[in-house]
Parts: sequence; structure tokens; C-alpha cells
Amino acid sequence: RNCRREGQGLREDGKEKKMANSLKEEFLRSQDEKGQSTAFSFLDLEKYALPLLKEAGVEEAELDLRLLLQEAFSLDTKDYLLGKREAVFTLYRKRAEEKPALSSSRVTGDSALSSSADEEPDSALNRFFTFLEKRLRRIPLSQILGRQEFFGLSFLVNENVLSPRQDTECIVERILEEEEKWKSLGEQDKRSGKKIELTDESVGVAGCKALSILDLCTGSGCIGLTLAKNLHCKTVLLLDKSDKALEVAKENYRRLFLEQESAKEEWQCSVLSSGREPDPNRIREQGLNPSVHFLESDLFDALPSFMEEKGISAFDILVSNPPYIRRDVIETLDAEVALHEPVLALDGGIDGLDFYRRIAKEGKRFLLPGGRVYLEIGYDQGKSVKRIFQKEDYLEVEVFSDYEGRDRGLYATLQLDTNKKIHYY
Ligand code: GLN
Repeated sequence: RNCRREGQGLREDGKEKKMANSLKEEFLRSQDEKGQSTAFSFLDLEKYALPLLKEAGVEEAELDLRLLLQEAFSLDTKDYLLGKREAVFTLYRKRAEEKPALSSSRVTGDSALSSSADEEPDSALNRFFTFLEKRLRRIPLSQILGRQEFFGLSFLVNENVLSPRQDTECIVERILEEEEKWKSLGEQDKRSGKKIELTDESVGVAGCKALSILDLCTGSGCIGLTLAKNLHCKTVLLLDKSDKALEVAKENYRRLFLEQESAKEEWQCSVLSSGREPDPNRIREQGLNPSVHFLESDLFDALPSFMEEKGISAFDILVSNPPYIRRDVIETLDAEVALHEPVLALDGGIDGLDFYRRIAKEGKRFLLPGGRVYLEIGYDQGKSVKRIFQKEDYLEVEVFSDYEGRDRGLYATLQLDTNKKIHYY
């Protein structure tokens, strides 16, 4: 399923277009019969598409349908709901005239579908039927929209990365909570309670140590980049086995950091030219951008040489949402996942635990003494993963749960006993 042959893509695209067209024609015919040819409303579109989506097995059909319509016609929820019973084309023209810069003001914008006042409403309709055709094939909504929200940030996604899940937010949440706690302890070493030497370079704006973070199996980059946004970091290394996934992570970095960086500069310029003092709180809030690195590597394989090259010695935090689905379970998952998300991001081996064994064993030598490990785990893997980490002599090994109370995360730390043999790179 992941190995489309050369040329096949094009043929398939043609087929998809045809399918989308015939859905549209069928719909228009049904409206003709009702005697309202082009005067149909969003409600009419919903009435036509909803049974199709349900029949295809789409779980949240109503919600998905509304979001696809909003995306296709560039409408926010309020405008959509208010205008739901009006004639679609009238409403669309009206909105487009009111917002001539529709394409730039769209929150969405990611799917690179520009829409402007002079765009034919018919192309918005075509867009909708293209989306619908995809959703009927159980392509995940996130892949159709080209983005998924995670921890309040918008991440670009495609078929080469696992779309960020809300479950995963609890891993990020846990790390932020703990760092907050340690920050309030002041400039003490987090584990030993000893005062730590803060060199100029390691002191952050908040007066505490800047962190080095390693995100393994980063995929879209959602975990590592969210941490980079919310913590004071020195280094964030995003690592993945798939170069196609890394492309997505890089693009997300560019959007979330570099584009905002130029916005920040603009803001600072405008402040300076207005003669006002820059607000120090605002600068502090935005923090310093950490250096973010990307590495294509099968877990730790390429890491030692890369760290040496970049002068990175070891990490404070190792985080990962590795593939953890049991191989024989994959095909029983929802079609969205089983058919359209990358197998590489799902397959955790025969018992689903392959990555935990490798991370527990090999991860140690990349962590600073007292370094922390945070991993996402499957709801039924708590005991097994805990045992794996205990056997490898990690301390404080603990399973924590997600917002629904299921086991979802593993926390472990590394021995503080620096006399034991630990290798650093
Ligand atoms: N780290 C990414 C995420 O949490 C990808 C995870 C994966 O590919 N298994 O969404």
C-alpha cells in the first residue's frame, strides 16, 4: 500500500477526479429534480453527502462534513452555520466581496487553495467534491485539510507522517509541568539539589538552565517543536528514520519558528520606529530560539557521529512517541489508520514493544546524569514497558495516564551515580 509505482499516481489522480465529478453531477441532478438547479444550500449538500459518508463508515460524519464544506468554501464556523440555509453561491459571493483578501486572511491556507473574490464559486464546489471523494475513501480528515492542531499549534501533515493525536498532548503536558516545578526550585540541580554552575551560554531568559532535548521518531515534529516553543531550550534534535517525515518536520519548523521570527522582527522594527520602548515581558515570553537539528536515523544509529559533529554532548530529555502497535493488530485498526497512515509510524514489531527495548537499552548513553525519559505507550503496555526500563536500571520508572484515565505515558530517569560507567558523546 505504500509502494505506488511510478506513473500509477497520475492514473489514480485521473480516476479520483472522475469520481469526484460524478458525485457532483449526481448531486446537481438531484437538485434539478427538486427544481432548484443552482439555488441549493449547504443544508442540501449535507443531506446529499451525509448518508454517503455514514455508509462509507466515517465515524464523525457530521463534523467532518461541516469542516470539509467550510474548508472548500473558506468559511468560518459562524458564517457557515448562519448561512447554512441560504443559496450556497449567493452566500459565497457575498462573503468573497466582503473579504476580498480572503486567501490571506484564511486561518487555513495550508492546502494551498487560494480563493479570492473573483474565483468562481463553482471551483469551491469542485473542491468540496474532491474532498468528499477522498473522505469516502477514508483518507483522514487531517490529510485532506493538510494540517492537524496539536497543543494549540497547527502542524502540516501528509501521508508520510502520523497525524498528531490528542492523546500525545499528555506527554508534552507532563514534561512542561515538571520543568515548571523544577524552575520554581531555582538554580538547583534538579535531582541532587546541588547548586549548578550556570555558564552564560546555559542560562536562559528565565534564569534557569537551557535544555537539550532529543525527540525520537519525530514524525511531523509535533512533540519536539511544541517543547521548543514552550520551554527554554538550547538544543532540540528531531530524529526520524524516514526522510519524507523529516521533510514535514522541517517545514513545520520553518512555519512555527522562522516565519514567526520575521513577524517578530517586524514587530520590533515597528516598535522602534514608533519610539516606544520594547516591552521586555513580550521579548521574554517569546524566548530565544533554540538551535533545532534534524537527523535521519534508525533510532540511535546515526546519532553519535552527528552529535560529535555538532558538538552536542548529551541530552536532558529524551522523548518519543515511537511506533507501538502490535503487527497483527494494524490491519484491524480504523481504515483511516490502517490504509492511509504510514506503517512505519505504527508497527512496533510482533509484540509492539520493539522500540521500547531499543530505547531503554541504547538511550542511556545519550542522557545526562539525572536525564529524563518520557515515552508514549499503548493503553495496555504500561506493565511491560515499565519492566523493560526497570531491567535496564532506570530510576523512578512510572506509568502515567492520559486525559481519559488510560495508561499513556512512561516516565523514567537515569541514575545519578556518575561513578557508574556512562558514555558520553
Ligand atoms: N512523534 C510523532 C507523533 O507523536 C510521530 C509518532 C510516530 O511516528 N510513531 O505524532
